[in-house]
Amino acid sequence: MKIIDAHMHLGECRIFGERITEEQLLGYIDRYGVAVAVVQPFPGAPDVVDVHNRIHSLSIKTNRRILGMANINPRLEREFVAKELTRVLGSLNFVAIKLHTAGHAVAPANPSASILFEYAAKYRVPLMIHTGPGPFSDPIGVAPRAEEFPEVKLILAHAGFGVYASAALWLAKKYNNIYLETSWSHVYDLAVFIREVPNKVLFGTDLIENVPVEFAKLEGLKVSDEVRELILYKNAKQVFNISHI
Ligand SMILES: [Zn+2]
Repeated sequence: MKIIDAHMHLGECRIFGERITEEQLLGYIDRYGVAVAVVQPFPGAPDVVDVHNRIHSLSIKTNRRILGMANINPRLEREFVAKELTRVLGSLNFVAIKLHTAGHAVAPANPSASILFEYAAKYRVPLMIHTGPGPFSDPIGVAPRAEEFPEVKLILAHAGFGVYASAALWLAKKYNNIYLETSWSHVYDLAVFIREVPNKVLFGTDLIENVPVEFAKLEGLKVSDEVRELILYKNAKQVFNISHI
């Protein structure tokens, strides 16, 4: 069965103290048979342009088994953000944009975040939004944007991260353009997502150490092959508009 990982990172994070190397990325996609990993910089990347370039190099090297998701602080100068989004979405064929509410201290409805929604609409790519505990990350804050940009697919990263799982599910049921990426979500919440909105659930892992954990959750739930294919492959293929696998 083909596998798309909707949420993985490359590089260093000076906010959350993480680091993922090219070797680790290439190692895990082979070990777990990941057909495509959608890879983004961490919010605390010291040089986001450099990480975008490294993701693009890996994309070429792997024949597009690695695809790029832009993750740039929307509070930086608008000219810089616009130029970098135009570059990665226009020339480097990145397939999505990230809004890191916690990492960049910006709520979805904050005017600073508007540029990310506008470029997602302009380039017809999905926008992934970090959800979970802490200020700025309550998924309910995404609702006004779902209504403002009905044509943009919005992916709730971590699907509320346990604490806001019910709100994330409510949004996915109410809005056609809201999807749930389920890394770090509780296994019992994942069971509810799969039962209630099977066509909205996307498999994601986030960190190398968390990859086996996310597969174990599907094992624990004894998900049918049909639903497994939706979560691991078909839903993400449609959301990210992936045509080569
Ligand atoms: Zn992440």
